[in-house]
Amino acid sequence: MKDTFGRDITYLRISVTELCNLRCRYCMPEDGVCKLAHKDMLTEEELITAIEAAVSLGITKLRITGGEPLVKKNIVSICAHAADLPGVKEVCLTTNGVLLPKLAVPLKEAGVTRFNISLDTLNPEKYRYITRIGELKDAMAGIQAAFDAGFENTKINAVLIGGFNDDEIEDLADLTLKMPVDMRFIEMMPMYDSGDFGPESFISADTVLEKLKDRGLEKVSRDGGVAELYRLPGAMGNVGIIRPVSAHFCGECNRIRLTADGKLKPCLHSSDEYSIKGLDRDGMAEMFKKAVLGKPRWHGELSYDSRSHANRNMNQIGG
Ligand code: SAM
Ligand code: SF4
Repeated sequence: MKDTFGRDITYLRISVTELCNLRCRYCMPEDGVCKLAHKDMLTEEELITAIEAAVSLGITKLRITGGEPLVKKNIVSICAHAADLPGVKEVCLTTNGVLLPKLAVPLKEAGVTRFNISLDTLNPEKYRYITRIGELKDAMAGIQAAFDAGFENTKINAVLIGGFNDDEIEDLADLTLKMPVDMRFIEMMPMYDSGDFGPESFISADTVLEKLKDRGLEKVSRDGGVAELYRLPGAMGNVGIIRPVSAHFCGECNRIRLTADGKLKPCLHSSDEYSIKGLDRDGMAEMFKKAVLGKPRWHGELSYDSRSHANRNMNQIGG
């Protein structure tokens, strides 16, 4: 599907649930989500029909996200169905990793291609603070479970937070010396409700380059995605920086998003939404085409003072 600016939309990110087993401060409120009525969420059947409609229109890459996708009932069979569709090249999953010890093997068998695992700190107390309820050891066990299940090209994602983890950039980057992972640092996006974070918390990805400048970091290339890639000498994986705020990548955006309540979002930071709830497969396909044609050229200014127009928190979109 081509949009009106000539971008080929081949990548669908699907938030399968707004619910989560953590409560990251930059992502969702402490008391969780006000659970939408069950009837307002996509049913599993609708979700699968939507994936089929999207794939029939040329979507080749699927990312399953949330909320926490691994708390979704039947996540393994949903992934298996998606991975089986002709034309699907990749089914990736973004997760906090906590449930991977239980699910990594079944997800591998279901045909999931690889994981992005979120990890903002290596300090157990800071992990408990930022996630409000999580334990670092559970996330680390999840990363290990991904290796043990035979997953390769695992990416670890940390949101850069000034005054919280900017002093851990080197330690996090050093994970690439110890394990075959890419460590990616992502600028925090000023969402509808970004918790208690003030302007000083929103730091540029240049901080990463600054902190690693004496470490012999070499530029690799873009990964065909949104990260600028670098490598430490002797590393098994890359250090990536992702700058949704200090430099947007809208010109190369090939994505469209589907929320758990059945809204197609042509742009992460726009309030424009196209509902597919209750439609049949043809109706959904028409709505996908409409949403792609409605994709804006760029998302407009993003900063602490100029927040995302998404009108949703990140757990309701999927990142
Ligand atoms: N629960 C899963 C996880 O944490 O990986 C998937 C959903 S989560 C919303 C997807 C990604 O969005 C995570 O890597 C998370 O760190 C990131 N994220 C959430 N809020 C963000 C924000 N305000 N700015 C930048 N990234 C954010
Ligand atoms: Fe949950 Fe992921 Fe949001 Fe953290 S970032 S609260 S793990 S959805």
